[in-house]
Amino acid sequence: MMTHAKTPAIVRTIAELRQRIKAYRRAASAEATVGFVPTMGYLHGGHASLLRRSVHENGLTVLSIFVNPLQFGPNEDLARYPRDEERDVTLAASNGVDIVFLPSVEEMYPVYPLLTTVSVSSVSEHLCGASRPGHFDGVATVVAKLFNIVQPDRAYFGLKDAQQVAVIAQMAADLSIPVEIVPCPIVREQDGLALSSRNVYLSAGEREQSLALSRSLAKAERWVAAGATAQELAKKLAEDIRQAPSADIDYVEIVTYPGMQPIIGSGALREYADSVLIALAVRFGRTRLIDNLIVKPKEAGDLLCSAK
Ligand code: AMP
Repeated sequence: MMTHAKTPAIVRTIAELRQRIKAYRRAASAEATVGFVPTMGYLHGGHASLLRRSVHENGLTVLSIFVNPLQFGPNEDLARYPRDEERDVTLAASNGVDIVFLPSVEEMYPVYPLLTTVSVSSVSEHLCGASRPGHFDGVATVVAKLFNIVQPDRAYFGLKDAQQVAVIAQMAADLSIPVEIVPCPIVREQDGLALSSRNVYLSAGEREQSLALSRSLAKAERWVAAGATAQELAKKLAEDIRQAPSADIDYVEIVTYPGMQPIIGSGALREYADSVLIALAVRFGRTRLIDNLIVKPKEAGDLLCSAK
């Protein structure tokens, strides 16, 4: 479906947002749905893909832009996180967004930090949960709050942050939040780098070396088909990534998806029938990038074998 540029309403308070959504629901037919895309702004093609999907599937689309301090560690990039409200509103308009919610920190957190925290246990334990302590509590807390404010029928999340999708889906199921979580595919640059607001931090040299992530993931399925165990696959990926001299690996992990539990044991991964997440976090200079691939090893192995 074509989306048409329209001027979205810019809303900065929870009260006004609630009032506008209520008015929409009252005026619309019973089947009309509200789609929600939570972001931290500095929008790119990855965000745009979520917005287009929401606009296509719902009568009203709400985009939130909020750089959530709760999900940043003390030594992370909260202060320098890129922001460009004007550009974001233009991109929202060209993708057919109805409402852009741009709350201040004080609007979201009159008391900081909040006295209530949402914490999703085992799914948050490994990968980014281990290397960024408290990160997923911050994410789950703000998303729970935003879900309560917007009360969307559907919420759209990118699989670039696959662990985040698992955490939010678990939270919504555990707390019976009446929202459908819609996971959306990773959008990449032509050369393979996954789009990210943080890519602007990369120097020209780091940008070139950052291709180590997508390049190594592109080889993963072959290594799985060749009979690698999870440990061997992780080792091969790490060796491959280290060929980029400035790559500083935070983690290379192979976990169950969406359970997010390490796959241990000496069996070949290709015998594994369920979904597996191959996840990478790598620093280039001061910039930490993540990327991943979700595969069903048995199916992928069969496909690769039949293609030979
Ligand atoms: P962020 O602004 O980084 O918090 O991201 C907001 C939403 O956009 C999250 O659901 C992300 O997973 C999603 N997103 C970010 N980058 C991409 C990408 N390259 N492809 C698809 N979705 C993405």
